[in-house]
Order: sequence, then structure tokens, then C-alpha cells
Amino acid sequence: MASGTPVVARWRPTLSVEALILLASLAFAAAYNGALWKLLFGTSDLTDPGKLALLAGLFLVVVCVQFAGLALLLTRRTVKPVLALLFLCTALASFYMDRYTVFLNPEMLRNILRTDPAEAGELLTGSLIPQLLLYAAIPIALLVWTRVQSRPLGRSILIRSGGIVVALLVAGLALFVQYKDAASLLRNHREARDLVTPTNYLSALFRISRDAVAAPPGAARPIALDAHRLMRAGTGRKPTLLVLAIGETARSANFGLSGYARQTTPELAQLDLLVYPRVQACGTSTEVSLPCMFAPIGRRDYDEKRIRSEESLLHVLNRVGVEVLWIDNQSGCKGVCAGLVQERIPGDADPAFCDGERCLDGILLPRLEAAVQASSGDLVVVLHMLGNHGPAYSRRYPPEFRKFVPTCESLELSDCSQAEIVNAYDNALLYTDHVLASLIRYLESRSGRDAGLIYVSDHGESLGESGFYLHGLPYRIAPAVQREVPMLVWLSAGLRQSAGLNPDCLQQGVKGDVAHDHLFHSVLGLLDVATLVREPALDLFSPCRGGSGTSLAAHVPAGGAPS
Ligand SMILES: [Zn+2]
Repeated sequence: MASGTPVVARWRPTLSVEALILLASLAFAAAYNGALWKLLFGTSDLTDPGKLALLAGLFLVVVCVQFAGLALLLTRRTVKPVLALLFLCTALASFYMDRYTVFLNPEMLRNILRTDPAEAGELLTGSLIPQLLLYAAIPIALLVWTRVQSRPLGRSILIRSGGIVVALLVAGLALFVQYKDAASLLRNHREARDLVTPTNYLSALFRISRDAVAAPPGAARPIALDAHRLMRAGTGRKPTLLVLAIGETARSANFGLSGYARQTTPELAQLDLLVYPRVQACGTSTEVSLPCMFAPIGRRDYDEKRIRSEESLLHVLNRVGVEVLWIDNQSGCKGVCAGLVQERIPGDADPAFCDGERCLDGILLPRLEAAVQASSGDLVVVLHMLGNHGPAYSRRYPPEFRKFVPTCESLELSDCSQAEIVNAYDNALLYTDHVLASLIRYLESRSGRDAGLIYVSDHGESLGESGFYLHGLPYRIAPAVQREVPMLVWLSAGLRQSAGLNPDCLQQGVKGDVAHDHLFHSVLGLLDVATLVREPALDLFSPCRGGSGTSLAAHVPAGGAPS
């Protein structure tokens, strides 16, 4: 010990595995769970002793339960690397939970795991650096510095089991003492469990892996095996060309055609369209909405596992002989087009539209033209748009669409005023309007086809209202701006006629609420596909089919059993 090394460098604290886990659990509950405590106690008066006791009790519960869980899993060898990884992930999780009110449930984690690099890059902002230094680097350095005590196995098992039992007893007691208050608080905030970190993402990860093992991807269960096409006699049918433009993050509240005070859809307003101003989205994220809107069951009987394990509308169309193509300018088709022809647009596809990372939606028109050129039969093309994907709204349109100013140019929404955020968001809608109108004008010019276009957004967006940003809140508590999306339909005269639709009736609009649930059934109707899976009540165009002879339900063969 005669070296010149300072004492602090030679001295290293020695802690037991249990003590390390307890310190980490205390740190997580105290410093990483701000979003949870804000949700539960943000509006409470903490000078009230009852409230303070409730906060202390729930704090104890979080610490003890996390301690027990980690103590059950970690060993002397794994404690340091696992805790280091947890500090890093939890620092990231708490940053986004605080900033964007992200609820880390399996849905949200799926979103995150399937995010493409360009999307992820936009969420890595400069203010992450101090967060990572403070909440990841420092605790990890302390962890590395600490020595882990070594003990005989028998004694370890005894101490560990004792620790877990004590922790669970303390948690149980804390809950018991406060039962009435805690139960009512947690009943009113059921979503709070998705804010307890790191438990939230660990349990979400566990559930996702369990589901993946139970239903491996690529094994979609067939649906609508009785599906077949009805060809209307005597219509001199031309090939059908239907474009399904799936918008991103466009909300009804800011859509000109949905009644927004600002005209954000000037070009579409000039066209002859069927407009559904407020459609109920199936979810508040792409990951939920996309598979759901292409499924027969939708939100009304929502069953995520079933939707993920079954074929989509596109598989049914493909099976009855319609050519299907998915063109993606987003984060992929989330299983909807699995096994079907798809084209992902790379970020450097065309310098006229792309910046190396992403392409503006204008690139979809030349892609569609090429697809139409290459096909001669009935064709359904899904255009999955980049749309208004946040937070970088200002990167979703070319400079000539920067009409509402000043705009938020920062990736950090907190750097901008709400008006600047809304301006950038509205400019992106203005560009979507232009892209959709261009697509429709192109389809109008295809006189050799019976053409149509259906546009619907996947979910809405919060632009700072009540402190919420972006989307993905649990459906039960999501504000209307995240759930209500615009939808519009353009049908050529030829398609109206071949689908047997009465134009006067169409203009009268639809009675009742329209939801993503309608898409599956309406597209089957439009393309003359009969199957027992199709529910005519959910076909937007059913009421406008002239004459009983065109009732699709009547054409299901007597022996056609549902699949
Ligand atoms: Zn989306």
C-alpha cells in the first residue's frame, strides 16, 4: 500500500447484492418515476398529511415490489451488468415519459421496437445528453466502482429469501393501511401501471416475447375462405384500380374538409369527394390502427392477438384474384401485407423528394404510375404515407408549402410555442392535401380503368393540448384529437357505375358514426367480393347500391360456410 494512488481510488465500497438492488430500487422510485408521481399526485395538496401518507405508502410499494422482482432474478454475477442496463434504459424511458407522456405498455413498446432508424433519429435530441449523464452515466459509474460482497451459497439463499419476504410484507402492509385511498386513486388512474418504470417496459417486453412464442410471425390464419368475386353482367367492366392512401398522424381537428377554421385542404376542396369528417380511429398508434383497420373485427370487438394472428383484407383480395401492392413511405405494413408484394421506398430513392433519410410523400405518385403501368388486371395499391409524422412536422413538406408561419423548426417541441407547432403541423397537412389531389387527378386521367381512392389517417395527434404531445396514449384516456381522423373517398363515374352505386344517394352521406371498422367491409363491397365475413351494415356504400339484385349478401352461395 505504499503507492501514491489517492485513498479514494483505492477504497471501494463493498455491498451485498441485496443492498445494491435496494439502492437501485430506491433510486428508480425516487428519481425515474416523475411521470407516475405527477399523474397520481400532480393536482394534490401535499401539505395535507393524508395525501402525503398516501404518497409515502405508494412509494414504499413501488420500491418493495421492484426490489422483490429484481431480487428474485439477479445473482452476484449478473447484478452489475443488469442494473447498468436498467439504468440506461430507464433513463431513456423516463425522459420520454416525462416529456411526451409516453405510457410504456406492450403497444407502445412494439411501436418503439419497430421504429425505423430515421424515425428514431428524430427523437434523439440534444437534451438527452444531460439526462443520460445524470441518470445513466453516474449511477453506472458508481455501480462499477462498488464491489459485490461474496457469501456462501446457503447463507445467500437465506438472506435473499428473507429480503424478498420482508419486502412483500412491507408492500402488503403499506397497501393495507391505505387501502381505501389507494384503491380509489388507482382505479381512477388504471393507466398508472404503465408509468411505473422500469417495471412497465420489462413486463411489456415479457408479454411481447410470450405472444411471439405463442404465435410466430408469418403463420397468419386464413380468413374468409368462402370469398369470391361477383362480376356484374352487362356492365362492360374495365379493370378496377383502387388506391388506399393510409395517412399518418392527420387529425380531424386540423383538417380543412373536417371543418377546421384554417383551410388546410384547399385542393381537395375543389374535388367531388365523399367526406367523412370525424372517423373513429381504431387505436392511437400506427402499430394498433394499421392491422386493425385491415381486419374484419375492428375496434368494436377489439382483440389484438386475433388481429395479429389472422390474415388481412389484402390477403382476401389477393386470394380472389385482385393484384395487391403495398408501397411504403413509412415504418412498414405491421404484418398487414405479410407475404404480399411490397415496395419500401428507401430514404435516398430520388433526390427530388428525399433527403437521404426520408422521402416526401410526393414520391408516391411516380411510384403509383409505375405500378399501374406494370399491371393490366384489377389492382389495389396501398400507399402508406409519411404524412404528419412527428415531432419533425417541418420536415414533412417542401419549402413552398410553408404557408402558415412562424413554424417550429426544432426537433424539441419544448423549444417552440404551441402556435409554431400547429403552424408546422398544418403546413404538413397542406402538403398531404396537394399529394392526395395529385393522386386523384392522375386517377381521373386513367380512362381505361374504373378508379377510386380512399384516404384515411391512422390516428390523430396531440399538439400540446393539456400538456400532451404526439400520440399513443392508452385509448381509454386518449383525447379526441388522438382518436378522430379524417377520411375521404373519390370514385370515378365508371367505378360508381360498375359497383352499382347510386350517385345521388352517395352525396347524402352516411348516417351514424364512421370508424376504421368500416374500411374492411366497404372495400370488399366496392370490389364485389362476397363472403360471410363481410358485414353489409359496416359497408359505407351498402345503402347506395341500387336494386335488390346487387345485394352482395344475396350472392353468398348456400353452402358457403364462414371460415
Ligand atoms: Zn401512425
